[in-house]
Amino acid sequence: MLEIDRLTFSYDGGKTGFAFDMSIKPGEIVGLIGPSGAGKSTLFDLIAGFLEPASGDIRLAGRTILELPPEQRPVSILFQSDNLFDHLSTGANVALGLGGGTKANDERVVAALDQMGLSDMINRRAARLSGGQKQRVALARTLLRNRPILLLDEPFTGLDNKTAAPIRDLVAQMVRANNWRNIVVSHQADDIKALADRTYRIEDGRTVLEAR
Ligand code: ADP
Ligand code: MG
Repeated sequence: MLEIDRLTFSYDGGKTGFAFDMSIKPGEIVGLIGPSGAGKSTLFDLIAGFLEPASGDIRLAGRTILELPPEQRPVSILFQSDNLFDHLSTGANVALGLGGGTKANDERVVAALDQMGLSDMINRRAARLSGGQKQRVALARTLLRNRPILLLDEPFTGLDNKTAAPIRDLVAQMVRANNWRNIVVSHQADDIKALADRTYRIEDGRTVLEAR
């Protein structure tokens, strides 16, 4: 279980206060919605360790992760944008998900790009990819990291539905198979409906469970 337990935070010492509360079982996909500025990315930053909460706890399998620095947290995160190193090849960007020293043509990198329909792009510099291609490269790397907590911020934005549908299925299948605890931010209701077991909305800085 991933438990976000009465987690509070504010950027400015009080004016914009957040209070997050949710729990996610292994293999479960939770949708996170709310208008721009609601606090979705803020919650991700707290879980990933880029922000420090004022109070509350984040526990994985009963143990707090709050003391861990970001690079040691059991988290793999896809940011809303700017996920790639533009000067590196597609393959090199994906290889980073497996840790430094992994070759850009490692068979796991090749397989991950293949799943995203990007085999032909492995040697291309990230700077020369389209927006949708970049998004899929970043997703391939995020999934390859294989951490217990998977945070996806608008993973399907910029992909047309024909491209997005099989990738959505792939994400769902991998979350189930690996028992990841997955939170997906999307403003596209269709994505959330197709993917999430449950959905929370951030309303007035608080996580509220959506009625089905
Ligand atoms: P969302 O991802 O749901 O669009 P964010 O979590 O990015 O929302 O932002 C939530 C609120 O916090 C917004 O009002 C935003 O302006 C504010 N905010 C985000 N980052 C900062 C920051 N670094 N300093 C001050 N306020 C911030
Ligand atoms: Mg955001």
